[in-house]
Amino acid sequence: MAPGPGNILVVEDEQAIAETITYALGTEGFGTVWKTTGRDALAVLATQTVALVVLDVGLPDMSGFDVCRELRRQHAVPVIFLTARSDEVDKVVGLELGADDYIAKPFSPRELTARIRAVLRRTHGNTTVTGTASTDWAHDPAKCRIAYRGVALELTRNEYRLLAVLLAQPGRVFSRDQLMTAAWDDPGAALDRTVDAHIKTLRAKLRAVAPEADPIVTHRGLGYSLREA
Ligand code: CA
Repeated sequence: MAPGPGNILVVEDEQAIAETITYALGTEGFGTVWKTTGRDALAVLATQTVALVVLDVGLPDMSGFDVCRELRRQHAVPVIFLTARSDEVDKVVGLELGADDYIAKPFSPRELTARIRAVLRRTHGNTTVTGTASTDWAHDPAKCRIAYRGVALELTRNEYRLLAVLLAQPGRVFSRDQLMTAAWDDPGAALDRTVDAHIKTLRAKLRAVAPEADPIVTHRGLGYSLREA
């Protein structure tokens, strides 16, 4: 397929992985542009519009993090990182690079295409307009009230603030530090496990409304996200 506005830019120096990604995206109807270096990727973005960038962290000429920083100066294009090690995952979450998601190697092509669709839905769809995950949720910031599946939740102040942070960006993984900074007046006074404790009580309250749903997702070693609709 010729380069165009619906294309995905794949930045990956390992040919076998790039071919797997390109093939998987092709079968789902996406066009792809493949580049093996950060500089070539930035050159593409300077001249073409792409729908999304799949960006390997370990590139031969510069790190994917630097590529992301560079492209963020000019573009709001969604970025999904490909990470090879867990310390890279920590950086994706911790550095606030403006990445929309990440996927750890090895990954299944099906998982990657599902993530890509989810990010495209989130960034182009109308879910970002309301800022809520789906019709499951109703958030009234003026009254500090959140309803789940039509049931108003009885939340403590910190539970409310935690949930409001998650609800603002469904699918985004927040580290415990980020949640604590966002939801506590004095984050220094709270410990990691305090976030865990509040997530636990939140989950119990959500379970009382919908026993099977479990809308808060735990990402081991990383933090939490709200499940996307
Ligand atoms: Ca690589």
